[in-house]
Amino acid sequence: MRRVPERLSTVQRSWRRLLENVIGSLPEDFALAEVMSFKPLFERAYPKNRFVEEKLRQTLQVLRDEGIITFEGRGKYRRILPRANPSVRIDFSVAAHLVSSAQIARVAIEAWAQLNVCCALCGGGRLFALPPNTPVIDMQCTCCQRGYQIKAKNGFFEGKLMGAAYGPLARSLKAGTVPDFLLIEYSRSRALVLTADILEGAQISSARVSARAPLGPSARRSGWIGSVIDISDLPLRSVVGPAFVSGPKSLQREETQNASCRRDRFEDEFE
Ligand SMILES: [Zn+2]
Repeated sequence: MRRVPERLSTVQRSWRRLLENVIGSLPEDFALAEVMSFKPLFERAYPKNRFVEEKLRQTLQVLRDEGIITFEGRGKYRRILPRANPSVRIDFSVAAHLVSSAQIARVAIEAWAQLNVCCALCGGGRLFALPPNTPVIDMQCTCCQRGYQIKAKNGFFEGKLMGAAYGPLARSLKAGTVPDFLLIEYSRSRALVLTADILEGAQISSARVSARAPLGPSARRSGWIGSVIDISDLPLRSVVGPAFVSGPKSLQREETQNASCRRDRFEDEFE
């Protein structure tokens, strides 16, 4: 029977959510050591916390009290609640405390991605959101630790990505460190994700990137130079989207991912 959870602070809630997400990517029966192997991810998400292992143990207790896992003794655990099926619905209420519509969209979309997207590049990991001021990447895979920058648009990209600062992007092009992108087209009014695709940063050549005119003197970030990335005809890996748009390769990937993020892969790894 599920116990009624005690009220958790915002920080406790976010640890809880992140850990639940990590556990969702583990086999049904898992060991403490497997949870602790994700310690670097929590350290990165909560750089000020010096007691990550203690906090993880404490959060495991919270999940046990909520009936999400059981303790089986000798460092063994069992996940009770099945993982929810992927959904395209965006829950904007997770960002109800925010005012700016750009921030609301970012937080709600990241929350959606955390619950519903698997990393298409390793085929197994879940994505979790990094703190808002983390440079270059917004989310990281719990499995291969690959970082993703999220580009979300209310509507369709139509072959162009706008918005990233030109200077840093030009530098990362030169250094060959353009991040991978999670591209999300959504409908704000219907609170639905329409398509989500992964674009590998290595596909973007400097010929595809151009600088926009600097922002005018009346703008809050006056003088700031944004960029436009031409993404037309670049191959994308489909995460969400109508099957008839994706090629046969994408369809194949979709099938393997929907089989609960290829959980068997993790079982192989940890046995
Ligand atoms: Zn991955």
